[in-house]
Amino acid sequence: MDLLNSGGINPKPLLVCSGGTSSRCAAHDHWTLDLRSRFKKLIVEPEKNKIQIGGGVLMGELIEELAKYNQSFPIGLSGITGVGYILTGGISPLSRSEGLAIEKVIELSGVWGNGEEFSIKKPNSSSPQNQKNIWRALTSAAPYLAIITGLSLQTQKIPEITVIQSRVNDQQLLMLIKEAEAWPDIASLQWAWGEEIEVYIVISNKDMTSVSLIKELTMLMKGFSGLKQTNLTGLYNCPPFPNKKRANSNSNKENHSEVLGLIGPEWKSNCKEIISEITYSMRNRPNLSCHIAAQQLGGITNIKTKDTNSFIYSGAMWKPWITASWPADDKYTKQRSIDWLEKFWSRLEPYCPGIHLAQMHPHLDWHKKEIEKTFKEWLPALKELKASHDPMGNMPSL
Ligand SMILES: Cc1cc2nc3c(=O)[nH]c(=O)nc-3n(C[C@H](O)[C@H](O)[C@H](O)COP(=O)(O)OP(=O)(O)OC[C@H]3O[C@@H](n4cnc5c(N)ncnc54)[C@H](O)[C@@H]3O)c2cc1C
Repeated sequence: MDLLNSGGINPKPLLVCSGGTSSRCAAHDHWTLDLRSRFKKLIVEPEKNKIQIGGGVLMGELIEELAKYNQSFPIGLSGITGVGYILTGGISPLSRSEGLAIEKVIELSGVWGNGEEFSIKKPNSSSPQNQKNIWRALTSAAPYLAIITGLSLQTQKIPEITVIQSRVNDQQLLMLIKEAEAWPDIASLQWAWGEEIEVYIVISNKDMTSVSLIKELTMLMKGFSGLKQTNLTGLYNCPPFPNKKRANSNSNKENHSEVLGLIGPEWKSNCKEIISEITYSMRNRPNLSCHIAAQQLGGITNIKTKDTNSFIYSGAMWKPWITASWPADDKYTKQRSIDWLEKFWSRLEPYCPGIHLAQMHPHLDWHKKEIEKTFKEWLPALKELKASHDPMGNMPSL
């Protein structure tokens, strides 16, 4: 805290590591504050449907602990991500019916970029505007303003889940995307396009709607390659997605990567063009490990109370993320892969104009553009808050 306060962080910014899964939790010549060993608190309050966690808890650890109390939390597609998953929005395969992870946060504590400690509760409608703005800033833009050391989260009863997996061709994917846009909120479609195309449908078994949807999908996908259905309690033991071996033929080598998450509305009649754009970019990828995948949004994530957090995504239905990947130390392929990602982005931009800033890229040329597309008209107010709570720019820039 003294270092933050006195401007002693040099070079800036200070990097923070929770799960350590993104490319910017550590970098050459930068300080990293690694929360993974000392911020592991997990205190469940089952009677209040609440859990207090430390800033270094992994999402797998969180739901494993909650499962002991028959409780759950909408984690993402992997248990290895940390609190960074929640702080950057947190899109779960259950978000269409349960909401985003960030919407489940009810208390936050930590240290601002200027070294001052804080502890804040989710405001209500009569809270002062200043408190509402601070809460809005910390929920999805915290990595630019503060170090979050503790969170209280709302939890829910552990859900029964069915996962349907299959390998598909581009036409089958197109058909499923169109179908998924009309599904009830209890179902979401995830897909990954690497060497093969893989689909991963998650259905929470809430009522008879799920039974008839599962039946319908079983008929619709009859004869699809590798069709498999798994029934589970909670997300903890979900089959892995994407299947690394299929998404990445170079998996025996050490690869480095950069990931860009886009956000877009329903694709409806544009689906065919979008699939053509993806086919073109995938054919022209510089390295077999480069790939694209997507998660489905929509459902209750589009009925949030306006302006309550910094995840700005009005009307979103799809979050495709493009991964540029290259063998470690291969600078030539690295540059080609990043150029490929940028071109791919421009091809999908008309259909997916927003950004989900799950991985920050202050070291890349497009950082300014991705920040503007993430926070939109809320960015000037965020910058004002940064000027008062992190005036020396100890945290990553906005
Ligand atoms: C295998 C895998 C699956 C994924 N699945 C999903 C998914 O389903 N849905 C989804 O929305 N995203 C998903 N992501 C993206 C992931 O949630 C983000 O990249 C997230 O930022 C990772 O957080 P982390 O704590 O694991 O990583 P880290 O690299 O430790 O942190 C990521 C960023 O968050 C900041 N940060 C982390 N902790 C703190 C803190 N306590 N205080 C302040 N800043 C902090 C760091 O500065 C860093 O820039 C996935 C990523 C991976 C690798």
